[in-house]
Amino acid sequence: MLALSTSPPPASAAEAERLARDLYGLAVTASALPGERDRNFRLRTADGRAYVLKVLDAGHEAAADCLVRVLRHLEEQAPDLPVPRLVPTESGTDLGQWTHEDRRCPVCLFAYLEGEPLAEAAADAALLYEVGRTLGRLGRALQGFFHPALGVEIAWDVRQLPRLAAHADWIEPRALRQPVLDASAALEHRLPALRRLRAQAVHGDCHGHNLLVDTDARRVTGLLDFGDMIHAPLIVEPAVSMAEFMMQDAAPGEALGEVLRGFGVERRLDEADVDALFDLIAARHATTLLVQAWRSRHDPAGARELERTAAHAGRALDRLLTVGRAAATRGWHAAAGTAPLDDDRSIVDLGRRHRLLGAGAELFYGRPLHLTRGSGVWLYDPEGRAYLDVYNNVPHVGHSHPGVVNAIQRQTAMLATHTRYLHGRILDYAERLTATLPAHLDACIFVNSGSEANDVAWRIAQFATGHTGGVVMEHAYHGITDAVAALTPASGAVHDPRVVTLAPPPAGARASHALDPADLTAAARDTRQALDSLAARGHRPAAFFLDSALTSSGIHDPPAGWMEAVSAPLRAAGALIVGDEVQYGLGRSGTHFWGFARRGLSPDIVTLGKPVGNGFPMGVVVANRRLIEAFQAKFGFFSTFGGNAVAAAAGLAVLEALERERLMHNALSTGEYLRARLEAVAARHEALGRVRGAGLLLGLEVRGGTPGQARALARGIVDRLADRHRVLTGLEGPDAAVLKLRPPLPFGPAHADLLAEAIDSAVQALTSRSNSGTT
Ligand code: PMP
Repeated sequence: MLALSTSPPPASAAEAERLARDLYGLAVTASALPGERDRNFRLRTADGRAYVLKVLDAGHEAAADCLVRVLRHLEEQAPDLPVPRLVPTESGTDLGQWTHEDRRCPVCLFAYLEGEPLAEAAADAALLYEVGRTLGRLGRALQGFFHPALGVEIAWDVRQLPRLAAHADWIEPRALRQPVLDASAALEHRLPALRRLRAQAVHGDCHGHNLLVDTDARRVTGLLDFGDMIHAPLIVEPAVSMAEFMMQDAAPGEALGEVLRGFGVERRLDEADVDALFDLIAARHATTLLVQAWRSRHDPAGARELERTAAHAGRALDRLLTVGRAAATRGWHAAAGTAPLDDDRSIVDLGRRHRLLGAGAELFYGRPLHLTRGSGVWLYDPEGRAYLDVYNNVPHVGHSHPGVVNAIQRQTAMLATHTRYLHGRILDYAERLTATLPAHLDACIFVNSGSEANDVAWRIAQFATGHTGGVVMEHAYHGITDAVAALTPASGAVHDPRVVTLAPPPAGARASHALDPADLTAAARDTRQALDSLAARGHRPAAFFLDSALTSSGIHDPPAGWMEAVSAPLRAAGALIVGDEVQYGLGRSGTHFWGFARRGLSPDIVTLGKPVGNGFPMGVVVANRRLIEAFQAKFGFFSTFGGNAVAAAAGLAVLEALERERLMHNALSTGEYLRARLEAVAARHEALGRVRGAGLLLGLEVRGGTPGQARALARGIVDRLADRHRVLTGLEGPDAAVLKLRPPLPFGPAHADLLAEAIDSAVQALTSRSNSGTT
C-alpha cells in the first residue's frame, strides 16, 4: 500500500540546482523541503524569485500525470484558488525528468506560494471558517475532475483503516490500541454508508502544513501538495482537515465546526455527510497511529518524522471519544446547517409573540398550533404529530413538494436577480401560463402577492376605461393595499363611495343546475341598481372584481346563467372584468383549469397569487399585451422581486406538478367523493346544512337557532377538529358559519374519509353536549 513507507528519491540540492538550469533555464540556489514520497526543494534566483522543485518517485508516472492534470484543471476552473501554478520546462512540457541509477523520476516546478503554515499559525475561528470556505471552493472546482490514478490504494485513505488495523499491536502507548481498534470497527461498519455518499476527486490531505495562511488578513494563501489525491466521499476533505486541526487543540465541537460552516457555504453538505464525520475523524487519528506503528518496525526514519504527529493524534482521539459521538455530531450538524429543520427550538410563547408581532396578529384555533414541518397534505408539530391540512391552498401541489423545492433551491443557488436583465426562465413561465388561458390573455406583469396583482389590475382598469368605480361581491376579499382594501368589504374597511357590492347567488346554487328565471332577473336587477347608485355618486364602473368561487362571500358555485345576468349590465356600462383567480385558479374546481371558465366568464384581466408559487411569494397579472403595453407606456412599471428567476422556477414547477400528477383530475374525483361523504354526514346532524362549492373548495353550512349560535357552534367544530382530531379547517362567509374545506390538491379519498369521520364525531360531541347542557 502506498505511503506506508517513506521513500523520496535521493536527489541532492546540487542535483536540484542542475535540474533547474537544464530543464528550466534557471540559475538558483536550492534548499531541501520536507516530503514523504517526493523530494522537494525550494529554489531561489539571484533576483529574488522563488520556486518549488518536486522530484517524484520513479514508477509513478500515472500519479505525476494526475498531478499535472489536476493543477491544469484548477487553473482553468478556479483561477483564484491559491494552488501551485505549474511552470513548464524550456521545451514546453509540464514534466521534466531526473534519471538516477536507471530510475526515471518525473520532475515539476511551481511558483513558490508565500504564507505561514496553518500548523504554526494562531488559528482563530474566523480563520478556520476561511479554511473551510477554501476547501469548499476546492470541492466545487474538483467536481468534474477524474483520473485513473485517483483509485490508488494509499494508507492515508481512511477507508483502508481496517486493513491497517492488523498492526495495532505495535501501537505505543498500549492504552491507545483498543480505541484504534474500535475506530477501525466503527469505520468498517460505516463503509456501506460511505459508499452511498457523494464522491469525487478530493485533495485528501489538507493538513496544517499543506495550508498556508495570512493570519492578519485571515486568508488562505496556499493549498499545497496534490500528490495524495483520491476519489472519495466529498466529506473526507473537511474531515481530514478537522482531524488535523484537532491536533492543534482546536476544540472538536465549536472551533472545528467553523470549518464545516465555511465549507457548507461553498458546497452544501447533506445530513448523511455530517453523520459520517465522527467515524472519519476518529479513523484519521487511528490511521496516523497505525502508520506510525508500522513504520516503527519497517521504516525508522519515516517513523521519526511522524513521531510528534502520532503523539498528537493519540491525544486528539482520546479527546474526541471524551466529547462523544452524539455531542460532537450535534454541534457539527448545527454548524453545517444540516440539523433536522423541524428542530425548531425557539420558544413560541404568546407573550413573546404579542410583544414582537402585536397582539392583533391573527392566530387560528382556540389552542394555537405550533407547526414545524409540512409534507403533501400533512403538517407536523414539534413532537412529530401529524395534522391533516384541509385548509391551506398556498401549498397547492402539496406542502414542500419536492419538485418545487428542488426548482427553488437550484435556481436560488444559481441566480436571483430581477426582470431588468434578460432571463429565459420567466419567459418560459409566461409562455406556459398564458398557454392555459384564453388567447386574448397573452402577456403578464409579475408582482409578489394577490393584493399587489389586484392593485395593479385596478390601476390598469381605471387607466383603460377612464372610469373610477369598482364593483365587487358582498363580503368579497381582494387584498390589503390601500386601493384594494376599498374593494374588500370582508375586511370591514370603511365604505368607499367609489365601490358598490352585489348580492351573492342563492346559497346552494350549483353550476350544473340552471337557476330559477326569477333569480336571474333579480341578479340583473341587483347589478343595475348597483350601477345606478355608483352613478349617483358620480362614478362609472372601471372594473368588476370576481373571485369565481365567491370564497369569502360564503363559497358559492352559481351556474353560467347567473354570471351572465350579473355581468352583462357591467360590460354594457364599460367595466373591465377582473377574474381574481387567487382562490379558484390552477384546477381547484376540478372541471376547469380557471375558475372564471366554470362561470362561463371571459375576463379582461386575470390576477393570480397564493398557489402559483406553492409557498414562494408570487403574484401575476395577465391581460392582453396591448393593454399592458399602453399601461407601461403611460406609467412605466417595475417590481423588484416580481418575476425574479426563483419565482419563475417555482411557478414552472407548480404547473409541471399539476400536469404530471393530474391534480385537477384529482380535485374533481376527490371533490365529488368528499361532497358525497359530507352530505351523508350532514344528513345525520340537525346542525349541518348544505354542502357548497365544487372540486376541492367546499363549504359545509353550520346551523343554529340564531346566526350567533351558528357561528359559535361552527367555531367549536373547527377548534375541536384541530384539537381532538388533528384536522385543520377554517370558517368562511359573512356569518362565519360555513366550514371552509380547501386542502392542498393531492388530497385523496382516504383523507376525505378521515375528514368526514372527524366532522361527524366533532359535531356529535358538541351537539350532544350542548343539548344535555341546556336541559
Ligand atoms: N384575492 C383573493 C380572492 C384572496 O383570497 C386573497 C387572499 N386571501 C387575495 C386576493 C390577496 O392575496 P395576498 O394575501 O397574497 O395579498
